[in-house]
Formats: sequence, structure tokens, C-alpha cells
Amino acid sequence: MSNALNKDAVLAALKEVKLPGANVDVVTIRLIGDVLVEGDQVRVAIVKTSEKDETIAGVQDAVAARLNRLEGVGSFEIVIDDRSAPKKKAPTGPHGQSPDPFADRKRIPGVDKVIAVASAKGGVGKSSVAVNLALALRDSGKRVGLLDADVYGPSVPTMLNIEGGPEVTEDKKILPVVAQGLQTISMGMMMAPDQAVIWRGPLVFSAIKQFLKDVVWDELDYLVVDLPPGTGDAQLTLVQQVPLSGVVMVTTPQEVALADVRRGIRMFEQVEVPVLGIVENMSYFVCGKCGEEHDLFGRGGGAQVAEAYRLPLLAEIPIDSSIRKGGDEGKPAVLNDGSKVREAFLQLAGRVSELAVSVD
Ligand code: ADP
Repeated sequence: MSNALNKDAVLAALKEVKLPGANVDVVTIRLIGDVLVEGDQVRVAIVKTSEKDETIAGVQDAVAARLNRLEGVGSFEIVIDDRSAPKKKAPTGPHGQSPDPFADRKRIPGVDKVIAVASAKGGVGKSSVAVNLALALRDSGKRVGLLDADVYGPSVPTMLNIEGGPEVTEDKKILPVVAQGLQTISMGMMMAPDQAVIWRGPLVFSAIKQFLKDVVWDELDYLVVDLPPGTGDAQLTLVQQVPLSGVVMVTTPQEVALADVRRGIRMFEQVEVPVLGIVENMSYFVCGKCGEEHDLFGRGGGAQVAEAYRLPLLAEIPIDSSIRKGGDEGKPAVLNDGSKVREAFLQLAGRVSELAVSVD
């Protein structure tokens, strides 16, 4: 007697199916939804959100081919669970109340466009991108603020060489610290170096809320927000408080980071925040001696995922010791005239300016 077919066997087989054109499998990247197995009959759902029709068709063919070869499968059905249609209006509840999760969203006074810099995991260079992007926008003549909401590792004070905290007025309003031409505020300015441990759960949320409510910005074209990494409640709550012009997703070319990015994209889609595109950080390495470009982690992964999810690849940022050194020393690398890093960040700032829209 052959082993009975079950859901785990089907999922294990589908883990061999790659997303067309990318080196990541369709199970890891959560393209496979419900899997039902009854006897020798299998039903698999493919979850479609922002992927192109061709991508989904390619996945469907590849899944069918794999199920055809899977031992114990008598017949199978593949359905598309289409979650891509934008919800136009939140439904009204049974008593006429609005369950609109965005009812609390309020514009930040004095700020035209809010751009969040996000990453699904830590250490991919999100804060470095946020700081250098803010400075690149400033260099293109914009008035820019930087809100460091990364409560778990606020790095903006170090990166911009800021000591001390903001001024707080009698009516408890917080005045941002001006550094290198940016109006900035950071969780790191509000806590002693050994205080990080208390920033948990509801405290994180109320601290972020206070920053959004009580900081007085002076006429900004852009407020760049360095979000905490991940897709937890803190980020979700934050994006529900303020209308965002868009999110810049930072990733590295490695497969694991790309699978995480997909999860991040989905979270922002769920709250109807536009993802402007993807930044592939640590994309390639420029040899200091010969000037040649080397692809250490498989450059181009970001481009493949951007293409599959119909998102622009906004920039590829090289691995460059000036980014780490500049961050540690309070002299961000974008300030180095004529460098590849500066060029990449100016390109990013240009794309962000093109794509970000004012929101009410
Ligand atoms: P995150 O905000 O995602 O946790 P950081 O911006 O703090 O990441 O970056 C993590 C570390 O990697 C820092 O030491 C930073 O200086 C370094 N780093 C980030 N991007 C690059 C890069 N492109 N080249 C070299 N070092 C980088």
C-alpha cells in the first residue's frame, strides 16, 4: 500500500516550484493559499495580490506540472484566490457604524508628503537608506524632515551626529532638532542609552503616536519616516494614524530577505498604502582598487521581485564602506561628491519625488 497523500506532502512538493524568474519558491513567498486533500483529490489555491497575470499564469502552470508528477494524486484543481481588487469603500456595519480602520488617519500639520522607509527584517540598511534619502531630497532643493520611529534601534542621532534632545515647549509640543539641514526627531533622543529595554508593546505605540501628534514641523515638503523593521502591530498602527504618500521597501539581494519583502508589501497593501517600489541595498560591491563591480549576493534579486509584483526598482545601492563609516561618524555617505553612492541616492530621491503623491 502506498503512503496516503496529505497536505504536507503536497506543500513539500510545491516548495520545489520557483516563482518564475526568481530564486524563491512559491510556498515560502506565500503564493500558495489553502491546500485541501481528500483521498487522491487535491485542491490548491494560488493567492493573487499585486502580481502580474502572466506571473500567476506561470505559477499555475508550474504547480500543475508538479501535481501531475506527484505520487498518489488522482485529480487536482487549482483555483486563484484573487485578493488584488482594491476595496473601494469599507462596508458599513449592521448598526450603520463605519468599521473604517483609517478613521483615525490625520495629516501631520506642516507636512506635505510622508514617505516611510520600511524593511521586513532588521540589518538590511533601512536606516542608512532613510538618512541618505532624506539628505538626497534636501540636496534636490526640498525641505525635509526625518522621523526616526525605529524604537528598537534608533540610529539617526549617531548617523547625523546629534547630541542632546529636542526642545519641549510649555504646552508640551516638541520642536525637532535641525541637523545637516534636516528637521529631525528620534526615539534615540528621548531615552538614555541603557533605556532601550523598556520600549515594549503599548509603550512603543504610544511613543510613536506622541511623535506624530506633538512634534511641530516647520513647513516640510517631505517627512521621511524610518519605520521599525518587520510587519508587526507598531508599523500597522503607525500607517493607520497618518496618510502616507508611499513606502520605500528596502531589501538585500538574498532570497530570505526577498521572501520577507513580499510579506511587507502585503501588509501595506492591506492598509491601502502605496508601495512606491523597492530599493536593493548591498546590491553589488565596487572594488576600491580596480573600480570593477562585483555581485556578492546575487545582484538583481530585487529587480526580479519588483517585476513580479509590478513595483519599480527604485535604486540599487552598492556595498560601500563609506556607508558604514559615514553612519558611525555622523557623515552620511551621500554627501561624498562624485561617488557611486551619492549617484544612487540622488536617483532614489528623483524616483521618490516622481512617484509620491500628496494625500489628504
Ligand atoms: P537597518 O536599519 O535595516 O537595521 P542599518 O541601516 O542600521 O540597517 O544598517 C546595518 C549596518 O549595515 C550598519 O552598520 C550600516 O552602516 C551598514 N550598511 C548599510 N548599508 C550598507 C551598504 N550599502 N554598504 C555598506 N554597509 C552598509
